Amino acid sequence: MEKRELICIGCPMGCPLSVELDQGEVVSVRGNTCKRGEIYARKEVTNPTRIVTSTVVVEGGKLAAVSVKTREDIPKEKIFECMKALKGVKVQAPVHMGDVIVKNVADTGVDVIATKSVGSLS
Ligand code: SF4
Repeated sequence: MEKRELICIGCPMGCPLSVELDQGEVVSVRGNTCKRGEIYARKEVTNPTRIVTSTVVVEGGKLAAVSVKTREDIPKEKIFECMKALKGVKVQAPVHMGDVIVKNVADTGVDVIATKSVGSLS
């Protein structure tokens, strides 16, 4: 029986979670105060994913950069590749919130989108 200790990131309480696995299958989750903790623990030990947030350069805009994020969670092991794909990306103003900045980032099937709007200088 394998045991994994995690801290839940579902809310600021940060409950310490203890997960027992048997041949890769979750047998029990302890330490969670609410159901979200159990869902997080099960996912984290079997298929860990994250939303990735960053910024990219805006050319000709009222701001020099725009904040971006993956539209959905991507596999945790793809985070580095995703950040690498965003490095050096430049977009032309105007940028609208929800605009696709990078399609299918790191071959995850998930797009990176702008999370705010940046108007153009002229
Ligand atoms: S288990 Fe529930 S209460 Fe505890 S940190 Fe996670 S979300 Fe918050």
